[in-house]
Amino acid sequence: MSRILIIEDEGAIAELEKDYLELSGFEVEVANDGEIGLKKGLTEDYDLVILDLMLPGVDGFEICRQVRAEKNTPIIMVSAKKDDIDKIRGLGLGADDYMTKPFSPSELVARVKAHMARYERLVGSAVEENKVIEIRGLKIDTTARRVWINGQEKAFTTKEFDLLTFLAAHPNHVYTKDELFSEIWDMESIGDIATVTVHIKKIREKIEFDTSKPQYIETIWGVGYRFKV
Ligand code: CA
Repeated sequence: MSRILIIEDEGAIAELEKDYLELSGFEVEVANDGEIGLKKGLTEDYDLVILDLMLPGVDGFEICRQVRAEKNTPIIMVSAKKDDIDKIRGLGLGADDYMTKPFSPSELVARVKAHMARYERLVGSAVEENKVIEIRGLKIDTTARRVWINGQEKAFTTKEFDLLTFLAAHPNHVYTKDELFSEIWDMESIGDIATVTVHIKKIREKIEFDTSKPQYIETIWGVGYRFKV
């Protein structure tokens, strides 16, 4: 679960922010003064920091400067004064975003999510998650090239896997056999559109409960196939 640190001395605002972020699935800690906030920000690992500017103890300027010197954690700075926001932008302290109080909690949640997504894209490549397509009981791990139907793994040939994944990745799109053949088989491949029919049949035998009434890959008579969602 992603952890957020709120450094905010106004208890009511901190609680409101905390409630909304927790409802959105985040784990939230609140520091009510600058010193505690700075210590937590430097010594603990958070996924994002929401930092008020005017704080007792150490102010937001200083916290932002010190945390940024040590960590790349996204920082959203908030202030009641628009002038202060303009000033901190100008200082280039390294905050990722600025919000003027009062703001709606839903806007805060939206910005938090956007910054986390951006940060994860920047640093997440080392632990990149597998790309998974899940449609009803069918699960395709396109990175590991594995397929499960209702929790049971099924073995697929390379082309069967490619064809199934292509269709599932473009749900409700009707493809002709010609289109599928040129998409999945390269130009040098020996075969024709009958190859597509054969592969669809084999895929259905593995994923469909009743191949005469397919729930996933539907035949569009006279046209081709589509993956139903
Ligand atoms: Ca304050």
